[in-house]
Amino acid sequence: MTYDDQNIFAKILRGQIPCETLFEDEHVLAFMDIMPQVDGHCLVIPKRPSVGLLDADPSVFGPLFTAVQRLSKAVTQAFDADGVTVMQFNGSAAGQTVFHLHVHVMPRKAGIPPRPHTGKMEAPEIIEKNAALIRAALG
Ligand code: 5GP
Repeated sequence: MTYDDQNIFAKILRGQIPCETLFEDEHVLAFMDIMPQVDGHCLVIPKRPSVGLLDADPSVFGPLFTAVQRLSKAVTQAFDADGVTVMQFNGSAAGQTVFHLHVHVMPRKAGIPPRPHTGKMEAPEIIEKNAALIRAALG
């Protein structure tokens, strides 16, 4: 599959559609998922385009997973989480729905199962509130 620069995350990176940004640098953007499977579900994407893990330039993985670790620590603090699920899908057969490499970061509480993948759109005010908690934990 070739990279299509009209995918939603490419549009977010170009500022053509909005997102609730958590942090960004020259390599990555971290933002809230609009259909969160748990409260505080967020995403990290490399700025360099690739469909997924298989076609990515390996140079993206250092900055990407450094950001994933930073975000995992922040969501753990922000949501007093018992654990963190880090998830990444490649290809529609594997559950991928947006074809720009991304990593899901989800704070988990013991005994609380995640909601369905790409389920319900969250109310914007809830996403804003959860983003504020994560930003505070990011410092
Ligand atoms: P995938 O299924 O490709 O692993 O995950 C794509 C994720 O992107 C899903 O969790 C979905 O909720 C999220 N998503 C889809 N469209 C948008 C959007 O326009 N904005 C944001 N912030 N997240 C989105």
